[in-house]
Amino acid sequence: MQVVDSISAMRDLSRSWRRRGERVGFVPTMGNLHDGHLRLIEAVQPLCDRVVVSIYVNPLQFGPKEDYSQYPRTWDADLSRLQKRSIDAVFAPVDRQMYPRGREDCCRIEIPVLGDLLEGAARPGHFSGVATVVAKLFSIVEPDIAAFGEKDLQQLRVVERLVADLNLHVHILAVPTVREPDGLALSSRNGYLSAAERAAAPELYRVLCQARERLRTGESDVPSVENEAMQSLVAAGFRPEYVSVRCFEDLVAPRESCAQHVVLAAAWLGKARLIDNLKV
Ligand code: AMP
Repeated sequence: MQVVDSISAMRDLSRSWRRRGERVGFVPTMGNLHDGHLRLIEAVQPLCDRVVVSIYVNPLQFGPKEDYSQYPRTWDADLSRLQKRSIDAVFAPVDRQMYPRGREDCCRIEIPVLGDLLEGAARPGHFSGVATVVAKLFSIVEPDIAAFGEKDLQQLRVVERLVADLNLHVHILAVPTVREPDGLALSSRNGYLSAAERAAAPELYRVLCQARERLRTGESDVPSVENEAMQSLVAAGFRPEYVSVRCFEDLVAPRESCAQHVVLAAAWLGKARLIDNLKV
C-alpha cells in the first residue's frame, strides 16, 4: 500500500495503472475510518484492479461555526485498518496542495436547487464544498469507479449530478448504509456522543422506521408523518432540524410520478449532528 501526499505522484500512479489496462476504484473519505467506509472499499474491490482511498478533511465543506477543527483525525489507526484490506494507495493531500491560494480564493462548483435543499439549507455552501473537492479528487485520481454511501444520500445525489452535468468519465457506485446492531448509522460524528447520548441515538433510526411504516401502510398525510417524527425526536432528547419525505431519485417533494420515496432526517444530540435516511 503506497501512501501518497502529492497530487502529481497520485496522478502518475493512477495513470501508470490505467496504461496497463487496469481499472481504478476510488473511495473518498475524511478519515476516522469505520465499517461504513470499509464497506465502500469492499464494494469497489471486485469491480476494479486497483483501489485508492483518499483521506482528506476538506475545509471547504465546513461552515464557519461547524466542527472542522474538532473533526476526528486518526491517521495511525486509519492506516493500520487500510493495511489489512489490500488497498493499493492512500491519497492524503495537505491543504497547501489542495487549496494553494487558500479556501476563499478557489474556483467552486455550485449545485443549484439540489444543493440548496435539506442539508444544503441547514449548511449553506456545504455541497459546493463537497462538489468542488470531489471534482478535484476525480481529476487527480482519474478513477473508473468511485463509491459513495447512501448514508449521505443527498451528497450521493450531488456527486451523481456533478458527474452528469460536467460529463465526467466515472461510474458512481451507491453503497447501502452500514448500521450498528441497534440501528444507529455508523458515522465519525457518533464519537461526539456521551454514553447516555449514545444510548438514546438509535431512536433516530427507530423514528425513521416508524415514519416508513406509516407511509407503507397507506398514510397519505405526509406533513403529519413528518411532524409526528419531529415530536418523537424531541421527546427522545434530540433537537431535530428536519424530518422530510422526498422522492428517492431527486430529493424533491413527493409527486405522482415518483416511484420510490425516502424519509430523511437531521437532528442534534448533544454536540453531534446526526443524519440518516430510509427508503420507503
Ligand atoms: P466521510 O468520511 O464521513 O466523509 O464519508 C466517506 C464516505 O463514506 C461517504 O461516501 C459516506 O457516505 C460513506 N459513509 C459514511 N458512513 C457510512 C455508513 N454508515 N454506511 C455507508 N457508507 C457510509
